[in-house]
Amino acid sequence: MLKTVLKEIGISASKIQRFAHLSQPFPCTSLKLTLLHNMCYNIIQYVEYACSHRFVTRRQKVDCNDKKCRFSNMHNAEEHNCINTCLQSMMAAQGLVMDTDNNSCSGCLTNGTH
Ligand SMILES: [Zn+2]
Ligand SMILES: [Zn+2]
Ligand SMILES: [Zn+2]
Repeated sequence: MLKTVLKEIGISASKIQRFAHLSQPFPCTSLKLTLLHNMCYNIIQYVEYACSHRFVTRRQKVDCNDKKCRFSNMHNAEEHNCINTCLQSMMAAQGLVMDTDNNSCSGCLTNGTH
């Protein structure tokens, strides 16, 4: 199922597996909204160059929209006992290699190591 989805949006499963340690990877923003909506987290998208260096291309915060979450845009603006009533942590960031480049990165090209 997941493989089918990934194929449709042009992501090979082998790329995703590099991030297996980051819990479940999400192929795109719309999918994760249905999977996880009760905790804020960041999606970090990377491009990977032929030299295997990775660069962040996009960071995106996913908001849980919970009034009782310290990180949410909906967080209770009134005075309250935040530490004891609100969620004080975000879920670990989810990393995804969204793109690959057949060239070495500019740093490697400059240094002439490739
Ligand atoms: Zn939240
Ligand atoms: Zn609070
Ligand atoms: Zn490089």
